[in-house]
Amino acid sequence: MSRRVIDLRSDTVTTPTEGMRRAIAAAEVGDDVYHDDPSVNALEERVAEILGVEAAMYTPTGTMANQAAIRVHTDHGDVVLAALRAHIDHHELGAANALSGVTVRQLDGERGTFTAEAVRAAVPVVPPSMPAALFQPVTLVACENTHNAAGGAVWPKDRLDAVTAIARELGIATHLDGARLWNAAVASGVAEASWAAGFDTVSVCFSKGLGAPMGSAVAGSRDLVDRARRFKQMFGGGFRQAGMMAAGALYAVEHHRSRLADDHANAARLAAGLAEMEGVDVDATAVETNMVYFEPTTTSAERLCAEAAEHGVLILPAGNAVRAVTHLGIDAGDIDDALGAISRVLRT
Ligand SMILES: *Cc1c(COP(=O)(O)O)cnc(C)c1O
Repeated sequence: MSRRVIDLRSDTVTTPTEGMRRAIAAAEVGDDVYHDDPSVNALEERVAEILGVEAAMYTPTGTMANQAAIRVHTDHGDVVLAALRAHIDHHELGAANALSGVTVRQLDGERGTFTAEAVRAAVPVVPPSMPAALFQPVTLVACENTHNAAGGAVWPKDRLDAVTAIARELGIATHLDGARLWNAAVASGVAEASWAAGFDTVSVCFSKGLGAPMGSAVAGSRDLVDRARRFKQMFGGGFRQAGMMAAGALYAVEHHRSRLADDHANAARLAAGLAEMEGVDVDATAVETNMVYFEPTTTSAERLCAEAAEHGVLILPAGNAVRAVTHLGIDAGDIDDALGAISRVLRT
């Protein structure tokens, strides 16, 4: 049977398009550790321009981009504030603890966000009668936009601005994990540079919805990015003729950003279809970008996913819920086929 598999497990499952493969094949390359790779340099300049900052550094993964930034902003023993189930903590396997020696303190809030008041409350006020040395310093606030574990939620812009403002007032550095900042920009109509404004560093990912084979970048002032280069090297990320991959990433940045609107429409189409199905609990209004979380009510998430796979539809269990993510390998017809398969599984 040669039925096509509809892979909705993640937007990381994308494979390079024809145009991207041509850009990769034609890439001029050099040794990136010596800053000699013209394709890497072009990508870094373009990303810095889009984000409205001085400089950017290409990294093999988003985890490395985030962790190099955290290492730049903190000393061992510091506290980093982040949202509940933040990628920098949960999905990076405690790397911030292991590599930077920091404590990540999670702030609860709505859909992967938190408030400026929560930041203020988490920062100790040293009473004049007490030695400052008794208080663990909070030196970094990290936000995630869109928030992965919260279902691809976009931060309300004013709440994010309030968080960066309070951090500045308290003398705390700020990092934006913008792995899916491209999605946030398309969904909100607020440009990437506006989202980045107010942050000291921002990471973005090319290997998710943009569809490049690999890579992320961390961006900010030239001074911060230069310091981050040291940690990229230390964390094992000096990757020589990386221009082969950077050319694919640059192609994706130029050609695949605006089409993310299609992914969002397909996610909405999936959520609307699921909402009409018996045996499914879904809040279609919570679908802001390219992720759909839903709960089967008559079977387990595990079983639904296993049986959907037999029908050629790959979705992921996430606790009691199921996660489906749209991307450039998925069109509206695939969504209708996936809905058909899920509905068949739920009826049997
Ligand atoms: C995917 C992702 C990253 C980076 O992941 P890598 O797999 O290391 O490239 C960082 N933050 C968020 C929110 C992500 O979804």
